[in-house]
Amino acid sequence: MEIVVYPDPVLRKQCRALTEEEIKTGVIDGKPIKELVAEMTRLMREAPGHGVGLAAPQIGIPIRLFIVDIALSSPNAIPLVFINPEISDPHGEEEQVEGCLSLPGVHLKVKRAQTVKVKARNIEGIEFDFEAKGGMARCVQHENDHCFGTMIIQKASLIANIPVRRALQKLEDSWARRQARLAKKKTDATINIENSKH
Ligand SMILES: [Zn+2]
Repeated sequence: MEIVVYPDPVLRKQCRALTEEEIKTGVIDGKPIKELVAEMTRLMREAPGHGVGLAAPQIGIPIRLFIVDIALSSPNAIPLVFINPEISDPHGEEEQVEGCLSLPGVHLKVKRAQTVKVKARNIEGIEFDFEAKGGMARCVQHENDHCFGTMIIQKASLIANIPVRRALQKLEDSWARRQARLAKKKTDATINIENSKH
């Protein structure tokens, strides 16, 4: 698995909630949720610049699940896991620069609520809620946006922001090149199958 980068369409998807059955069994599409979270944690921590949060669509799985890696007691502690998060009661407003592991090279000022209430299920399926403040509030709002197909580039005006537009163009070009490579691989594989029929 790897971190999915803009403009991959999975990043624009409305993610589905996990079912009660999936939460109860801790398995989603045949994969233990704990394994998924471990993989997300590894990818997040190994990423250049070390992200502070990662949402499931960022590894190509459109479900409402994200992890947050801030305000922890030790650097190797397991990140906080949010399953089917619900955010409410936004208060205050603050503008700060944010980055995103799915938007390498892009940094944007984003307005967010200063505090929000968060309710979610943890990795054991147990419901928890708290009032998020500061960096935690910002991170939770950023990751929750991913679950609704929204990224920071949809939260700020890019018209006059030439460096960001350039960075996005670069990402679009390399994504197109990669798609072309994958399509060629597929065609080559088909040709090989055809040839081996003789
Ligand atoms: Zn992000």
